[in-house]
Amino acid sequence: MSYERHNIESMSGYVPGEQPTAADVIKLNTNENPYPASAAVAEALAAIRVEDLRRYPSPTAQRFRQLAAAYHGLDSDNIIPTNGGDELLRLAITTFAGPGEVVGIAEPSYSLYPVLTEVQDCRLQPVPLLDDWTLPGNFTAVLNDAGARLAILVNPHAPTGMLMPAAALREIARDFHGVLVVDEAYVDFVDPPQHYDLTAAVRELDNLLLLRTLSKGFSLAGLRFGYGIGAASLLAPMMFKTRDSYNTDFIAQQLACAAIESVDQARLSWDRVRQERQRLAAELARLEMPCLPSQSNFLLAQCRSAADARSRYQKLKHDGILVRYFDQHRLQDKLRITVGTPEQNQLLLQHLAGQVG
Ligand SMILES: *Cc1c(COP(=O)(O)O)cnc(C)c1O
Repeated sequence: MSYERHNIESMSGYVPGEQPTAADVIKLNTNENPYPASAAVAEALAAIRVEDLRRYPSPTAQRFRQLAAAYHGLDSDNIIPTNGGDELLRLAITTFAGPGEVVGIAEPSYSLYPVLTEVQDCRLQPVPLLDDWTLPGNFTAVLNDAGARLAILVNPHAPTGMLMPAAALREIARDFHGVLVVDEAYVDFVDPPQHYDLTAAVRELDNLLLLRTLSKGFSLAGLRFGYGIGAASLLAPMMFKTRDSYNTDFIAQQLACAAIESVDQARLSWDRVRQERQRLAAELARLEMPCLPSQSNFLLAQCRSAADARSRYQKLKHDGILVRYFDQHRLQDKLRITVGTPEQNQLLLQHLAGQVG
């Protein structure tokens, strides 16, 4: 006897990247920052006492909202803190798209979007990216024609790392009849940073929701803290109706505040990742594994064939180096490689060149 709703019974769940327990694995498969979080975060963690946990935390993570608002030059009601960026995606779908209604995405992109759409029993409208991995010009028209209530785009794009200009996204938000989520999980790694900024656009576009996370740029994937940026009117139903009453815990709030207050430290890691990204891409090209131009902390490297990509993935894994392989249309002959420390990248390159193992 199965008690699941029909849509839950017929769906398959999200498949996360491998999270090995062995400490000596070189982990270049789930886009974590290779550098530790700031010293201020470590101090905030050390200062937490068990009696701090006796009471409920701030239901709205109010101090974090204020700090994030100051960081972005916005007001605190333009910020919604969430339990990882993933919670914001779930909140957006459950708040803005009802069962049977249409959610639009580009394909390929983050594989969690279709899963959350299935949980809510929405209809997915995937729009394939063009051969050059850009969005087709009729993206908004296709979604408006389908009556889509919500569209989700990731920028910089995953898994290519390519960046779409802010102006193009503003135009989509302006013309789209539903809510546009721009998933900016990797925005901290854009080079140069001032080259792309959508935050001010939430003042004019009341259907634009930006996703931010501390998982990548702030080296806190284990903490589970993200936030949304949007017009106060857009955030209000998520903030006051659909969100869990205490969706971010006390420890996460304390550490998230310390992280955003010490953003200058995180910035150093972003610079190092950008430099290594450039070097790693050049070296991979020399090994006949050219990469798409990435503005993120990972590279999508082309292999000779799907069989070549699979066997390289397997061989690297056997040698203790994890990268990501997607057995999917258009991705089967590629490997997604997180930019690691110079030492980790060097080892990866040596293994790929067949100099070891
Ligand atoms: C990492 C990531 C997120 C958010 O991850 P959280 O760890 O839940 O904050 C969202 N979108 C994409 C594309 C990501 O890679």
